[in-house]
Amino acid sequence: MIRGLFVGRFQPFHLGHFYVVKNLLEKVDQLIIAIGSAQYSHTFKDPFNAGERIWMIRSALDDEVDPKRYYVIPVPDVNDNRIWVAHVASYTPPFQIIFSNNSLVKVLFQEAGYNVQPSLLYQRELYCGTDIRKKIIANEKWEHLVPDNVARIVKEIGGDKRLREIVKKNNTHEVVEKD
Ligand code: NAP
Repeated sequence: MIRGLFVGRFQPFHLGHFYVVKNLLEKVDQLIIAIGSAQYSHTFKDPFNAGERIWMIRSALDDEVDPKRYYVIPVPDVNDNRIWVAHVASYTPPFQIIFSNNSLVKVLFQEAGYNVQPSLLYQRELYCGTDIRKKIIANEKWEHLVPDNVARIVKEIGGDKRLREIVKKNNTHEVVEKD
């Protein structure tokens, strides 16, 4: 049994993530989808809380993927990169492969002795969390960029209104540039 790990913030879980997850499930028996920065919500970079992101991911995958084949596990950040890999592993079942394109994530897991492999970048120019959040704020069409159930959940929790309110209250430029 090979279990893989895929880490992301999934703000929100979009069709690029969806295709990556389906691709990774062809390579491993089980996939752990770790929701990074799990303690954050209600910011431009991280508008949705961990439970909302878990709901989105499960709702997007449930019709297509056997739920026994994946876990969705929230992992808060820690203010110390030296211990982050052990911190992630302390939340998850054992895994043998980690898929990431993030250079920091790759270095940290490689140094800890894991088998690190690149994850697919599926139509990156089209599917990008930051662009989707900007489109929601600008009242542009964004629903076609996420699984149907994710669009439904964003609206059901008032996530579109939340994003617009957040950037009204904060210095928009500062918040956008941080991502
Ligand atoms: P991320 O911050 O979620 O994503 C970074 C960028 O890469 C985003 O633009 C993301 O796009 C894009 N991306 C990631 N995977 C992709 C894929 N398969 N295809 C296309 N684009 C992709 O970073 P991450 O590497 O996905 O997640 C890392 C998580 O680990 C973060 O929550 C980070 O805070 C955490 N971390 C914590 C520590 C610590 O606590 N010390 C150390 C290292 C990492 P989208 O916006 O479209 O997703």
